[in-house]
Amino acid sequence: GGALSFENVQFGYESNRPILKGVSFEIPPGGRLAVVGPSGAGKSTIARLIYRFYDVTGGRITIDGQDIRQIAQSSLRSQIGIVPQDTVLFNDTIGYNIGYGREGADQIAIEEAARGAAIHNFITSLPEGYDAKVGERGLKLSGGEKQRVAIARTLLKNPPILILDEATSALDSRTEAEIQSTLDRISVRRTTIIIAHRLSTIVDADRILVLEAGQVAEQGTHAELLAKD
Ligand code: ADP
Ligand code: ADP
Repeated sequence: GGALSFENVQFGYESNRPILKGVSFEIPPGGRLAVVGPSGAGKSTIARLIYRFYDVTGGRITIDGQDIRQIAQSSLRSQIGIVPQDTVLFNDTIGYNIGYGREGADQIAIEEAARGAAIHNFITSLPEGYDAKVGERGLKLSGGEKQRVAIARTLLKNPPILILDEATSALDSRTEAEIQSTLDRISVRRTTIIIAHRLSTIVDADRILVLEAGQVAEQGTHAELLAKD
């Protein structure tokens, strides 16, 4: 599963001010779509609508062909993982933070993480030795480390649909590229939406959608978009 479609989606937070003005795209299961565009274009709104923080005011959003309004909220949300730009971590260990919401957080999280090769690869790419730090309290983590922890926590939930909402945008470009390429090496392909300001920060996407003022300005592969410029 994990096929996601927007069909002429319209939405406004206020009735007299449309934010999304008929947005359409389709992502096949395991596909990666990057949504890029200037601040205020409506990129994060797309993420909020998929999670049903708000309902569309026109058109529809489907997962595996089913209108998301027909899916029970708990079921819908268990299928979606969102990693935001600024993660607030608990003032506790990395293990606790990754395993939050699970029993025996620290140890179980570590074991589960170790079992899932994808997640293990990801967290062991933490600089300065994740394994040594995982049970330590009062850690001072860098922005990049925090985002790795946040992504690992979301991957552990194993959602068929992953949304990275400017998850690496606040980091310096080297750290951003590092995290993205680590994510790309993860063998498990899940349906992914990568939200970013700049096309240049997109390391790996099958298709790119350029959103401007709530409308799809362009949509295509990286090569197709470059050819048009
Ligand atoms: P093919 O090379 O078989 O014609 P495509 O070029 O359509 O396949 O797709 C290549 C990859 O891009 C596949 O992994 C597919 O899942 C993914 N993909 C296709 N369309 C989209 C889309 N709209 N958004 C994200 N990923 C897509
Ligand atoms: P982007 O992610 O592309 O920067 P957003 O989706 O966050 O854009 O916001 C799109 C537009 O919606 C902006 O004009 C923003 O001010 C407005 N907006 C966002 N959230 C709300 C809200 N809760 N209430 C009213 N307007 C909002």
